[in-house]
Amino acid sequence: MTLRYAFTNQKGGVGKTTTVVNLASVMADWGHRTLVVDIDPQCNATTSLGLDSRSLDRSIYDVLLGQASPLEAVCTTRWPGLDILPSVAGLAGVTVVLNAEPARQRAAHLDSVLSLIDGYDYILIDSPPSLGVLTVNALVACHGVVVPVQCEYLALEGLTQLTRTISLVQRGLNRGLSLRGVVMTMFDRRTTLSNQVVDEVRRYFPKRVFSTVIPRSVRLSEAPSYGEPGVLYAPRSQGALGYLALARELLLGDGYSVVWEPGMAA
Ligand code: ATP
Ligand code: MG
Repeated sequence: MTLRYAFTNQKGGVGKTTTVVNLASVMADWGHRTLVVDIDPQCNATTSLGLDSRSLDRSIYDVLLGQASPLEAVCTTRWPGLDILPSVAGLAGVTVVLNAEPARQRAAHLDSVLSLIDGYDYILIDSPPSLGVLTVNALVACHGVVVPVQCEYLALEGLTQLTRTISLVQRGLNRGLSLRGVVMTMFDRRTTLSNQVVDEVRRYFPKRVFSTVIPRSVRLSEAPSYGEPGVLYAPRSQGALGYLALARELLLGDGYSVVWEPGMAA
C-alpha cells in the first residue's frame, strides 16, 4: 500500500518544499521507497533534488495533460530509493486547461495519474502556494495533508480558508482525506515570538500539531543551492535532526517501525 501525503499551505515560503524534500530523503534512507511529486511551477522540489527542470524530456506537465504516462516522467535521483515526478515552469499553463473542465473532472487528474504508479511506500506531493486547481488535485489525490506553518507573525492567516478547502474536498471529492498534522517550521528559540506562535497554533489545532518543531537552520536554507536535501548536505545540523525527528513521528503514526532514535548521529 502506498501512502500519499500532500504538503499544503497557500501561504508562500512557509517550508513546504523543504519539508517534502527532507522527509522524503529520510524515508528513502530508512528503506521506504519514496516518490516526490512536484506540482509547483516554481519547481523548487525538482531543483532541490538536483534536477534541472529546463532539461527534462517529460514532467508532471505532460502527465497531467495526458500526453505521457507517469512512468515515462518519473526520474531517479542520486539517492537510492528516492524518485521524483518533476515539474517545469510551464505547469502554470496547465491550470488554464484544467479550469476549463467540469469541477469534479478537473480535480481528479493527479489522483488518476498516481493510481497508475505502484511500487512506492510513500508519495509526497509538494503543492504550490495557492488554493487553485493544482492544490485541489493534490488534496483529492492524497490520504493525508501535512500543513507546514512558519513560526512568524500572522502564522494563522489563511489557515481558516485552508481548513475550509480541506473540509470541502473531504465532503465532496475525497472522503478518505485527513489532516495528518501541522508542522511548525523555522522556529527560533531565541525569540518569544516563535514560542507564542507555536502556542497559538497548538490552541487553534488541538492535538493536530506535531511535537517536533523544525528549527531555523542556515544549513537547511543553503542545501537547495547545492541540489541536495539538507539532511544529506549537513546531516548533523539542528535542521537535519529536526527532520529526522519529524520523519520518526510521521512513520510511527503510520504504524511503521523506525531505525533512528533521538540522540543517534544522523
Ligand atoms: P513556496 O510557497 O514558494 O513554494 P515553500 O512553502 O515551499 O515556499 P520553502 O521553499 O521550503 O517554502 O522555504 C522558503 C525559504 O525558507 C527557502 O529559502 C528555504 O531554504 C528557507 N527555509 C525553509 N525552512 C527553513 C528552516 N528550517 N531554516 C532556515 N531556512 C529555511
Ligand atoms: Mg515550495
